[in-house]
Amino acid sequence: GRKFVVGGNWKMNGDKNTIHEIITTLSNGPLDPNVEVVIGIPAIYLAYVQSIVPDNLKVAAQNCWKVEKGAFTGEISPAMIKDVGSEWVILGHSERRTIFKETDELVAEKVAHALATGLKVIACIGETLEEREAGKTEEVVFRQTLPLIAAIGDNWDRVVLAYEPVWAIGTGKTASPAQAQEVHAALRNWLVSNASPAVAEAVRIQYGGSVTAANAKELAACPDIDGFLVGGASLKPEFVDIVNATM
Ligand code: 13P
Repeated sequence: GRKFVVGGNWKMNGDKNTIHEIITTLSNGPLDPNVEVVIGIPAIYLAYVQSIVPDNLKVAAQNCWKVEKGAFTGEISPAMIKDVGSEWVILGHSERRTIFKETDELVAEKVAHALATGLKVIACIGETLEEREAGKTEEVVFRQTLPLIAAIGDNWDRVVLAYEPVWAIGTGKTASPAQAQEVHAALRNWLVSNASPAVAEAVRIQYGGSVTAANAKELAACPDIDGFLVGGASLKPEFVDIVNATM
């Protein structure tokens, strides 16, 4: 079976005080020991969080650049993320794609380099409302995933896919369990022929978009939903209940 994996994406939120509070809450949990928990921290606080997190919480950066070092003012590299003790990076989030104009190809290059450096990657994909309404959901999700396949190579054991329909992010409009399951199953089925049957079976696909303690259990019960990527609710005590949704 696929181990349930729940990510928290804090985005550009928090300060030392609130971060300390959140980590204290998560440390007290208790968190289901059968669930992998990864929290995505603003880069400037990675080292601080790394110094106060308990062992059962893994730490992710929310972005990185595609080479090890050099003249890239303002960027951080996978080597730096690793150097401060963090194991994960979130790549291709829709906010990176939309606001910062990251293309499918750039995301793939970042994924390849992060994996080559030894990091684990949460790679995000998902359609906009306009694309969904035009009946293009699967086409978009497959198009975004295709360049990732070459980038990932035989490192699928260090990759989690996060399906985050853009219309559900930060809107309070969660995909219904049926809507999410449909895309997850279609993606897994597409991976059978485009990656391999073994990859399709083993890869964990998170759902993200307005996940709360109130809707997490129903979503978690879907056969192809293997975890969540949580934004707003990951800053609140209810994140504990979301992590524990499969208990
Ligand atoms: P919300 O949970 O706030 O909708 O954000 C989802 C998300 O973008 C996680 O990466």
